[in-house]
Amino acid sequence: MTDFICDVSIVIPIYNEEENLPDLVARIGEAMQPSGFSFELICVDDGSRDRSAHVLRDLAEKTPWLKPRYLMRNYGQTAALQAGFDAVEGRYTVTLDGDLQNDPLDIPELIHTLQTRSDINMISGWRKARQDAAVNRKLPSMIANRLIAKVTGVTLHDYGCALKAYRTELVRRIRLYGELHRFIPVLAFEAGAKILEVPVRHHARTKGVSKYGIDRTFRVVLDLLLMKFMLRYLHRPLHFFGGAGLWMLTPGLLICAYMTGLKLFGESIGGRPLLLLGVMLVLMGVQLIGMGLLGEILIRVYHEPEGREQYRLRPAPER
Ligand code: UDP
Ligand code: MG
Repeated sequence: MTDFICDVSIVIPIYNEEENLPDLVARIGEAMQPSGFSFELICVDDGSRDRSAHVLRDLAEKTPWLKPRYLMRNYGQTAALQAGFDAVEGRYTVTLDGDLQNDPLDIPELIHTLQTRSDINMISGWRKARQDAAVNRKLPSMIANRLIAKVTGVTLHDYGCALKAYRTELVRRIRLYGELHRFIPVLAFEAGAKILEVPVRHHARTKGVSKYGIDRTFRVVLDLLLMKFMLRYLHRPLHFFGGAGLWMLTPGLLICAYMTGLKLFGESIGGRPLLLLGVMLVLMGVQLIGMGLLGEILIRVYHEPEGREQYRLRPAPER
């Protein structure tokens, strides 16, 4: 699908932001109208419990470029973003938060950069002067950023910045599950994208409250594990599970052979803990290899019916 109806699609997930919405829509208009880019604003109401949905509906009546979508319930920021991505019709897609912590004035600059740098598929904002609480927000996020960069090899300073700009073809190649919105740069990298990180403005939240607490830190660790797996083993799960499986099966078989030998020479092995270890290792090894084989079948199911390629072509290098 390459018929774009405008230059820029702006996607914003909204959960309980009734006080911010009028300002948000006004400031997007003020930033975009003078820029000369044609644009649409896709606000996805993520099952807000306040009057956000009503406010959105009323704003949309007098704002032709505002296209609200309303989710049945609160699915979370990731699903809300995906719901927005599914609706974009612009050549470029920009995401930001609905709480005005990101500055809409940055959007035209990001789009200009994407236009001039044809080698870049995506720009990720970097909240260099971040306006959030130091201890419970900036510190955990600093650790998370370092860890993600180290583990995934995608080196950015700030993964969590919601302000990002994409060529829409890239958005169509990414699918967001769970809470993976924090790992979009990693998913984009997996999809073959070249990412540029640029400093953007950041403001403190003045209205409404943050939807997250410190508990997200632990979920990030699990998601990081998933990202690592996807980057290295998504296309060859047998190597991951089977590798671990062989490391267990081999010593397990040796131990069992040794035990059988002892038994044949008439020794009693019933009370030997080593027997238990050998049997456990063999069982676990076989199970893991089996899981790897199932994974291999799943990855084929994943790619083939959809006609999805496991690689991405690029044009010949320019002279
Ligand atoms: N959000 C959402 N669904 C949720 C939680 C948050 O759509 O379940 C939206 C929220 O309205 C905001 C963005 O996601 O536009 C980021 O949330 P928040 O500002 O609370 O996160 P923080 O900036 O504190 O990390
Ligand atoms: Mg925020």
